[in-house]
Amino acid sequence: MKKLDTICPQCNTSKEVYRVSEIYLSGLESIKSSKPPQDNAFDLVFGHPSQKFGRRFVDQTTKRTLVSKFAPPSSSKQRIFRSLSPDFIMFATFLLSIFMLYQIFTQQREVFVPALLIILAVSTAYLFTRKRIVARFIEKQKNEARETEQVKEAIERWMNLYYCAADFIVFDNEHRISIPLQQMNNYLMSPEIWLNQAAQDE
Ligand SMILES: [Zn+2]
Repeated sequence: MKKLDTICPQCNTSKEVYRVSEIYLSGLESIKSSKPPQDNAFDLVFGHPSQKFGRRFVDQTTKRTLVSKFAPPSSSKQRIFRSLSPDFIMFATFLLSIFMLYQIFTQQREVFVPALLIILAVSTAYLFTRKRIVARFIEKQKNEARETEQVKEAIERWMNLYYCAADFIVFDNEHRISIPLQQMNNYLMSPEIWLNQAAQDE
């Protein structure tokens, strides 16, 4: 492990300073490995596992809780299905209807007219409400794109964040902002409050 020369804004030394991402990744490594890994940043900060006895002094549950505090920001919703355009869905339905109408026409001609009327009614209803449905769809897509962008920026901020084990704070070295560890996620997702504060202090 390379020693950092980044200075903590609180204690003004680099003695107990680690990258947040390093603590997180080494924490995951520490949880996974059966024997305490050597020179592990997470273990150095939070536990004193004995290499000699191959024993852990921090139990797994505590480790998981600690590691999760350093985790990078992630999207609030898991998107499994990509949303389809309402026009595309209607077009597919329309093609299917044509096929069904053809079947009805050749096999059950007596219900052809009622079936045709139903399809015409549904199509008309869609055409009348289409503007609203499509607008809602576009709005939803925009929100998703915005959220993806926010998470991307938050992860970039996370990559540049340091932790001082002496003060239990994380800090942004570029902007010289320090944040209590429990507030890290708030800072990552909406740093404006802290950035404005830092700009005022200057
Ligand atoms: Zn410090």
